[in-house]
Amino acid sequence: MTLEHVDVLIVGAGLSGVGAACHLETQLPGKSYAILEARDSIGGTWDLFRYPGIRSDSDMYTLGYSFRPWSEAKAIADGPAILDYVKQTASDFGVDGKIRYKHRVVRAEWSTARSRWTVEAERTDTGQTARLTCGFLFMCSGYYRYDEGYTPELPGRERFAGPIVHPQFWTDDVDYAGKRVVVIGSGATAVTLVPAMAETAAHVTMLQRSPSYVVSLPAEDSIANLARRLLPAKLAYSIVRWKNVMIQLLVFQLSRRRPRYMKALIRRGLEHRLPPGYDIDTHFKPRYNPWDQRMCLVPDGDLFEAIGSGRASVVTDRIETFTETGLELASGAELEADLIVTATGLNLVPLGGMQISVDGRDVELPGTMAYKGMMLAGVPNLAVALGYTNASWTLKCDLTCEYVCRLLRHMDERGYSQATPENRDPSITAVPFIDFTSGYVLRAIDKFPKQGSKPPWRLYQNYARDIVTLRFGALEDGAMVFSNPESDLDADERLAA
Ligand SMILES: Cc1cc2nc3c(=O)[nH]c(=O)nc-3n(C[C@H](O)[C@H](O)[C@H](O)COP(=O)(O)OP(=O)(O)OC[C@H]3O[C@@H](n4cnc5c(N)ncnc54)[C@H](O)[C@@H]3O)c2cc1C
Repeated sequence: MTLEHVDVLIVGAGLSGVGAACHLETQLPGKSYAILEARDSIGGTWDLFRYPGIRSDSDMYTLGYSFRPWSEAKAIADGPAILDYVKQTASDFGVDGKIRYKHRVVRAEWSTARSRWTVEAERTDTGQTARLTCGFLFMCSGYYRYDEGYTPELPGRERFAGPIVHPQFWTDDVDYAGKRVVVIGSGATAVTLVPAMAETAAHVTMLQRSPSYVVSLPAEDSIANLARRLLPAKLAYSIVRWKNVMIQLLVFQLSRRRPRYMKALIRRGLEHRLPPGYDIDTHFKPRYNPWDQRMCLVPDGDLFEAIGSGRASVVTDRIETFTETGLELASGAELEADLIVTATGLNLVPLGGMQISVDGRDVELPGTMAYKGMMLAGVPNLAVALGYTNASWTLKCDLTCEYVCRLLRHMDERGYSQATPENRDPSITAVPFIDFTSGYVLRAIDKFPKQGSKPPWRLYQNYARDIVTLRFGALEDGAMVFSNPESDLDADERLAA
C-alpha cells in the first residue's frame, strides 16, 4: 500500500508548529507539508492552560513571531490574547487548513535507503492508526506532558475534605469566590494565580518550601506603545523586539557574572514594592543565584500589591500533612483552606513522547548529542523546535525554522536527500542539555539528549550568537553530513552492471 507522502511533517500545532508552517509557506512555498496535532484544538500551551490570570511571563515583543508584529497594548499578555494571536496567524498564513487534529504521533522510523520517515499516529477519536511518510520531520511538540502535571508526594492528601486542583487541569467550575485558598508552589504559575484569585477569594496563601526570585515589570511597555504610534507597525515591532532582546541578554549575563549586584538590584525592587518591615529574607530570598533557575515576573507588581492589601500572604514552610480542613506545617502552624491548588509544576518529555528509530535501530535520546540544540547526532532529517530557557521561547524557534528552511533549500539545490549531524571530534564531551537547577529540569534531564562541550554541539542560550550561527553560519560545517543514498545506490548498481 502506498502511504501519503509530504515533504515536511510538523508535529504539534502550538506556537512553534504554527510558526514553522508559516516559515514553510513564505520561504519554501513549493514544499508540501502537514501538521499532526494530538489535541482537537490549536494553540498548545495557550489553549491547554485555563487557570485564573493565565498569562505570559515574558514580553510578547519577543514571545511573538519575528514575522508578525504583536499589536496589543499589553506586553505581558493574557493567555486568551496569545491564543488569539496564534489562531489569527494560522488563519492569515493559510496554515490552519493543514492541521490534522486528534493525531498523536507515537513512532517515526527512518529508512536511509528510501530517505524518508514513516510516521505512525494514533487517532485519539477512533483509536485507529494513521501512517504517512515524509522527507523531513519537524518536531514542534513543546517540552512537557499534556496528560499529567507534576505533583509531589503530598502526605495525607486523601484526608482533605475540599477540592484539590492542579492548574494544568483547571475547569471553569472551580469555585473560589469568598473561599480560603492555599496555592502550593513558588514558580511562575503560583505567582500568577495568587493575585488573580485574591481578587474574589476570601484570602489566598502562597505556601512555598523555598523562595524564588520575583521581579516586577510594567504590564504595558510605554516605549513600545509610543513607537507604535510614531512608526510603521513592522519597524516599531522590530525596534522594540531588539530592545527587549538586549535587556533579556543583559539581565541574564549580569545574573551569571555579577550575581551579588543582581541580587541587590532585585532586593531594592522588593523593598520598594512590599510593605515596610516585610520579611523579605524568609519569603523572597532564594538560596541560589538569579537565573540559576527561571526568574518569576509579575506585571505591575500585582503579587506584591495583593500581599500589601492583606488579600494574599506568603508562608515559607514544609507540609507535615494534609488535614480534613487544611494543612499542618512542619513548624507546627496550621493553614485552614476551602480549596487547595497544587501549582507544583510540569513533567517534561522530549519529542512529544514519540519513539524514533533509524534503519531499524531505536534511538535512545539520553545517548545522543544535540546539534545546535535542535538536531540529533546520527538522526537524519529531523529538527526540534525548542525555545530558550533564559529568554522568550519564540526567539530560538524562529531561528530554528529559518535554519530548517535554509537546510532544505540547500539540499534541493545540491540534490541531497539526507542531512545527518555526526560528531567525529573525540575531544567533544557530552554535558547536560540544560544547566538549570530548577526541580522540573533536574527531574527529567536524564531523559533528554546531551549537548556537546564545543560548537556546533554546544547550546549557548544566546540569541545574538544563534543569529550568527543559525541565520548566517555555513551549512556545510564538517559536522553536518549531506548525502543522497538513492543516487549512491544507483551509481553502485551501474558500476556492478
Ligand atoms: C503556563 C505557561 C506559561 C508560559 N509562559 C511563557 C512565556 O511567557 N514565555 C516563554 O518564552 N515561554 C513560556 N512558556 C513556555 C511555552 O510552553 C512556550 O512559550 C510555547 O508556548 C511553547 O510552544 P510550542 O508550540 O513549542 O509547545 P506547546 O505549546 O506545548 O505545543 C505543543 C503542541 O504539540 C502537541 N503535541 C505534543 N506531542 C505530540 C505528539 N506526540 N503528537 C502530536 N501532537 C503532539 C501538543 O498537543 C501541543 O498542541 C510557558 C509555559 C507554560 C506552561
